[in-house]
Amino acid sequence: MQRAALFRGGDAQMAAGDLGELLVPYMPTIRVPKSGDRVYKTECAFSYDSPDSEGGLYVCMNTFLGFGREHMERHYRKTGQCVYLHLKRHVRQKVPGASGGALPKRRNAKLFLDLEISSDLNSDDFEYEDEAKLVLFPDHYEISLPNIEELPALVTIACDALLSAKSPYRKQEPDSWEEELQASKHAKTLVQLDNGVRIPPSGWKCCRCDLRENLWLNLTDGSVLCGKWFFDGSGGNGHATEHYRETGYPLAVKLGTITPDGADVYSFDEEEPVLDPHIAKHLAHFGIDMLQMQVTENGLRDNDIKPRVSEWEVIQEAGVKLKPMYGPGYTGMKNLGNSCYLNAVMQAIFSIPEFQRAYVGNLPRIFDYSPLDPTQDFNTQMAKLGHGLLSGQYSKPPMKSELIEQVMKEEHKVFA
Ligand SMILES: [Zn+2]
Ligand SMILES: [Zn+2]
Repeated sequence: MQRAALFRGGDAQMAAGDLGELLVPYMPTIRVPKSGDRVYKTECAFSYDSPDSEGGLYVCMNTFLGFGREHMERHYRKTGQCVYLHLKRHVRQKVPGASGGALPKRRNAKLFLDLEISSDLNSDDFEYEDEAKLVLFPDHYEISLPNIEELPALVTIACDALLSAKSPYRKQEPDSWEEELQASKHAKTLVQLDNGVRIPPSGWKCCRCDLRENLWLNLTDGSVLCGKWFFDGSGGNGHATEHYRETGYPLAVKLGTITPDGADVYSFDEEEPVLDPHIAKHLAHFGIDMLQMQVTENGLRDNDIKPRVSEWEVIQEAGVKLKPMYGPGYTGMKNLGNSCYLNAVMQAIFSIPEFQRAYVGNLPRIFDYSPLDPTQDFNTQMAKLGHGLLSGQYSKPPMKSELIEQVMKEEHKVFA
């Protein structure tokens, strides 16, 4: 066909209407994404290819599934779908000394794909440019989208809607427990009673029972009272909370946690651990010198203060210099917010030979027999993830587990 040669250059001259004519046979297969449609324009259904990948990403104009170069053929074979929107983010190293680098990256008009800029590439040294074009299979005709005004209205609308559609991947907020503690609203204005109470550096006991651990010092009146019963076995009769209900004195510090760097402060009123920026002054009021506390802590045996070298620090290999590993089997997964547990389970599962054989070994079969929407298929997403982890192909940039997480959620509802 002579048209192939005509359109391949992208800037070839053509009369208005020719492009429309070319698309006519395919018009019934081109859909405009509606609000309920998931538009997979950031990641291939079968691999971790994205518009950042060398071959870019092909988005089916009928199902809005995304495919990397090596996986779109399968979709074409299965469905006969010919029209795809090809998305590609080009990354170029900037010529040193070239002017015009003052444009802030995010406002660069050349970027219209909703992708993260890889943190590996210093954005001052690289420039990005997004490209979108319609590709017609199997002959691979390309229609650059600057020609959009010459296309049939339906195609223009469909391309616009696809490019502006929200990614089906939910972006989660970071773990709230990982956030910094907030200063208590009571810290600044806390009134401390001049009742002469002096707290000794050791030998504490609850004022209302015999407990000698899990004790809290109320910062208003200096009363020492036991905390609640916790899962970690640190027992308590809840006398500190009881005292708050009677008095409304809002802040308490846990005895045994006081060091020159700070202390664990709880706000009964705000019902959460808080920061007390005036903790040194509040402790001094009851005769506690923060700077002395670390010195005496080790000497305190009678008050059962255990050294705080926790299992947590051991598990995390705290203080140990770790070397990043790359290659097959050393591929990491991105934490999408509360997905670290899922990542860890998946890493463990794919270290087991039976799982490797069942999913990665059977990958071609699983992919060929996958349902029309592979993004919702458990086997497909397991094979995809296993291959991603074990092939080493994605060993450099951290991977995402978005689709497997979605599928797991849908299948089991427990990963909430
Ligand atoms: Zn008590
Ligand atoms: Zn987590």
